[in-house]
Amino acid sequence: MSIGGNIEYIKKVKDEAARRSGRTGDDVLLVAVTKLHSTEEINEAISCGITDIGENKVQEIMDKYERVNPVRWHLIGHLQTNKVKYIIDKVSMIHSVDSLKLAQEINKRAQQHDLTMDILIQVNSAMEESKFGITTEETGQMIEDILNTCPNINIRGLMCIAPFEDDPEDAREYFAEVKKLYDEYGRIEHPRLDFKYLSMGMSNDFEVAIEEGSNLIRVGTSIFGARDYSKKMG
Ligand SMILES: *Cc1c(COP(=O)(O)O)cnc(C)c1O
Repeated sequence: MSIGGNIEYIKKVKDEAARRSGRTGDDVLLVAVTKLHSTEEINEAISCGITDIGENKVQEIMDKYERVNPVRWHLIGHLQTNKVKYIIDKVSMIHSVDSLKLAQEINKRAQQHDLTMDILIQVNSAMEESKFGITTEETGQMIEDILNTCPNINIRGLMCIAPFEDDPEDAREYFAEVKKLYDEYGRIEHPRLDFKYLSMGMSNDFEVAIEEGSNLIRVGTSIFGARDYSKKMG
């Protein structure tokens, strides 16, 4: 199947899942995850209607940035504080904020560039499964600390990576728990808290994620095929 055909298919599945949760496909943003794929493949996806792409490594964004056609870039992987400066003027949203220290570095670099950065807080409701993300219990305090100390950050929502399950049904409860947090903290009234994105769902589990309330899915393999981890992207 071609990249364009895959995108059409995912949009159809996304639309059906959104309808099952009382919404439409337009309510769910598709972010194409382009890590380890070439700029030619990325530009093909953009020509097929992709408006947002996700990368998980700073270096890959730097390597590809000049050769990719205009698109919104999302940093979706773990971000080290010493690398924020390289991508602060390139990405439109950072999904993986998991410490106050990282938020404060993003804030500092955003100030230097005279911009306000949209971020999501990465939560991890099953701590033993993943190295990154804060616990559900820490979420409220983290939001409060960012609002109090980071004037150049807008908090736009939450992100999570469900533990990989052979059966995506097993991730349903996990997604539902993060959706509950999203609804709870989205009610906070503050000029720099404007929840719009609940980033959850990947190739293997995005249907279930949408059914549980996701409005942003990050899909790589189902668009571009399997990643070749032996090759450094070029
Ligand atoms: C790689 C990656 C994805 C996409 O995974 P697929 O299974 O290829 O769809 C989504 N989110 C994050 C954070 C990733 O690193």
